[in-house]
Amino acid sequence: MAELTPMMKQYLEMKDRNPDSILFFRLGDFYEMFFDDAKLVSKELDLTLTTRDRNKPPEERTPMCGVPYHSCESYIARLIAKGYKVAICEQTEDPALAKGLVDRDIIRIISPGTVISASMLEEGKNNFLSAIYADEAGVGLCLCDISTGEVFATSFSAGPEALDHLENELGRFHPTEAVLSQGAWALEGLTDFLKERLSCMCQHWEKGFALENARELVNKQFTAGLETLPVGDTAAVQATGGMLRYLYDTQKTDLGHIAAFSYYTTGQFMELDLTARQTLELTETLRGKEKKGSLLWVMDKTKTPMGHRLIRGWMERPLLSPVQIARRQQAVGDLVEDIITREELTLTLREVTDLERLIGRVVYGTAGGRDLTALATGLGKLPRIRQLLEPCSSALLQSLAGQLDDLPELRELLQRALVDEPPFSVREGKFIREGYSEEVDRLRNVMDHGADMLADLEARTKEQTGIKNMKVGYNKVFGYYIEVAKSQTNLVPEGWVRKQTTVNSERYISQELKDLEHTILSAQDKVVALEYQLFCELKDTVCRHVTQVQKSAAAVAQVDVLNSFASVAAAGNYCMPQVDNSAVLNIVEGRHPVVEKMLKDSLFVPNDTHMDDGDDMCAIITGPNMAGKSTYMRQVALITLMAQMGSFVPAKSAHIGVVDRVFTRIGASDDLSAGQSTFMVEMTEVAQLLKNATRRSLLILDEIGRGTSTYDGMAIARSVLEYCADKRRLGCKTLFATHYHELTVLEGEIPGVKNYNIAAKKRKDQVIFLRKIVRGGADQSYGIEVAQLAGVPDRVIKRAREILKDLEAGGVERPVVSVQEDSGQVSLGDLGGETVLKKLRMTDVNILSPIEALNLLNELKQDL
Ligand code: ADP
Repeated sequence: MAELTPMMKQYLEMKDRNPDSILFFRLGDFYEMFFDDAKLVSKELDLTLTTRDRNKPPEERTPMCGVPYHSCESYIARLIAKGYKVAICEQTEDPALAKGLVDRDIIRIISPGTVISASMLEEGKNNFLSAIYADEAGVGLCLCDISTGEVFATSFSAGPEALDHLENELGRFHPTEAVLSQGAWALEGLTDFLKERLSCMCQHWEKGFALENARELVNKQFTAGLETLPVGDTAAVQATGGMLRYLYDTQKTDLGHIAAFSYYTTGQFMELDLTARQTLELTETLRGKEKKGSLLWVMDKTKTPMGHRLIRGWMERPLLSPVQIARRQQAVGDLVEDIITREELTLTLREVTDLERLIGRVVYGTAGGRDLTALATGLGKLPRIRQLLEPCSSALLQSLAGQLDDLPELRELLQRALVDEPPFSVREGKFIREGYSEEVDRLRNVMDHGADMLADLEARTKEQTGIKNMKVGYNKVFGYYIEVAKSQTNLVPEGWVRKQTTVNSERYISQELKDLEHTILSAQDKVVALEYQLFCELKDTVCRHVTQVQKSAAAVAQVDVLNSFASVAAAGNYCMPQVDNSAVLNIVEGRHPVVEKMLKDSLFVPNDTHMDDGDDMCAIITGPNMAGKSTYMRQVALITLMAQMGSFVPAKSAHIGVVDRVFTRIGASDDLSAGQSTFMVEMTEVAQLLKNATRRSLLILDEIGRGTSTYDGMAIARSVLEYCADKRRLGCKTLFATHYHELTVLEGEIPGVKNYNIAAKKRKDQVIFLRKIVRGGADQSYGIEVAQLAGVPDRVIKRAREILKDLEAGGVERPVVSVQEDSGQVSLGDLGGETVLKKLRMTDVNILSPIEALNLLNELKQDL
């Protein structure tokens, strides 16, 4: 350190304190990075790597790279997107006034979970930071979106399932960053899980997570404090404390907008694990990872950014309480019936700005003039929404209307103070509206009329002094001056000071000119400073209303989602399901909400479903490939889920007894390459669901046991089915699609099991899918017909028919393909011939000479 300049020492001290962040070190108009940070950033962002000390030998030069202060945001955004943290180090005193080295300090650390600027956030998605605490008693989880101010906290008691629950919750909030306590860091499997899903994770110091400290932080941050958190739930308190400590340490600014605290327990929402969310394609499709083709794509007709975010939240957290569900349903019902209100609402909501994030930025201190006008515009739409909701009878809509506070005085103030379209920066003036501040108007007048005032002064002076040959001029060295022809200098009054002599004239300044100069030149600086000061005052006024704005924003979001449900229901001819705590699942003419939208030429064929906890608990569904089995099963799951979101459902009528979880085991094998791992994935999922399902769960099982030999597979399929149907074990509603027609004998053997098939018929050699689910097992597989449909060459199809005929004639009930014992052949693999196989595979027979072939044969024999 001894040889370093004082500034580099300062840099290294800062870097030392923030080793895991890239340090953006402010130097004049640039943020500079040095040493490894410089190398990293130049590589990641494709910037030129330079050095400050070119005259030193190359090995002693300090690598450096920089980004302009004015356009730093896009560079920061790119680093954050790659999972880095950026520490912003600013000059904390005016360099012009500093004696020696300018003071600098880290003003903020930006990380994936703490970004606030609109350009780094996706409008329709929350951006959560998570904090996880764990000890022997349990696991606490806190999630916070600092751009909207929402905080959620929950906990799970210690035990083998704690990690499953935690992963499910993390899966549904999909945070972009995690802060872990020591205990959480040590939790087996957690860091691996997180590493796969998020780009940024750190273990934060224990101080915030310590119970006493955490209590204090929670009480300080949230006005309701620990009243909303059960005192006994120490893990949740500790996770929240750890979260707050991290935010205070990294954000170093007012976090007053983080006030919307919700404590929940897993028992309040339907739990969905990652597999179920993915296979049911709730927010994105399984293969393309696109919104189009997902349930969200069909259901999301929201118009505000708050609504976009909330509908995702509702989809990932369906309710369990029939009372709460009914509250939403009534609201949707009101809006479905009243087309005018619905359409007017849609039009008005379209104009509501992102109140939640706008107020977040204001409190946080990064808002500009545009944000304030956008806030005023958004608030200005609320009275119309209130008015539209007035005739609605639903208790929820009435209550939401009551929460829409449009803050008329604040709006009026902002409208009066700010121009319609303020410039981007608040540091360059021109955003305060004329008439708001006398002083701003006066200064602007001075700036606009500087030339007139000088001309005026010139005329007046001429008259007063009698100097005819004079004019007011300007140069950079002296500023304004009065130039008098040499012939008239005798008329120059006493107080003037001579500044410069030219060939034909003398240049002077007078006190009056000096004053005027000062007025003109300083007006610009003054007005900019004054406008900024007024802006800060406005910002402070807005900050005092943070709670009302957040409450209004939350209410708008709900109105938006309910209106979206209603629009989709009306357009799609959905019905209001009856939802209660019974064990019934009764759907009349149900449809798959997404598939029916994707079908272009053909119409979707509706199907009925009846399940309960008695005779109709498990449905075995057979039918040819492509008949529509998985569509049907997913449809039942989606309708249940939609009903529990409070939405209408695509059916003629529906009666849904609330389910606590939906589990799926659908076609992962379709996605992965065949083999051992596929079967392993399948069985892990089966194990997971059998372990966690309760009798109130809904199970969707597609082709269990497909990944292994026929007998193995069938045996597993059968025993899983027996377990699901047995009331002493699981006894829950199960839809079970299978290729094993043999399983249909279970109807009659096991109570609660019924056979269904999706009808298809054969005309000539062609299969016709009827898409109708009917009672009874399927009579045929139509495998060959489906292969033909898929374009398998005619010769192959013809041959397959012949083989099938032979097989059937030979009394073989079904061709058994993959069971080795029945094939009568001994496989090389079984005899330990792996090496032989390998050698054979690597040999190109075409280039072997006869003698080489003989040698090889000999070698192979020895290997066996
Ligand atoms: P399976 O699981 O039996 O192989 P799928 O459920 O994948 O069959 O359905 C195959 C295709 O059939 C779907 O992609 C869809 O286009 C169509 N389909 C399924 N069910 C219906 C239905 N009820 N009405 C119309 N088309 C349907």
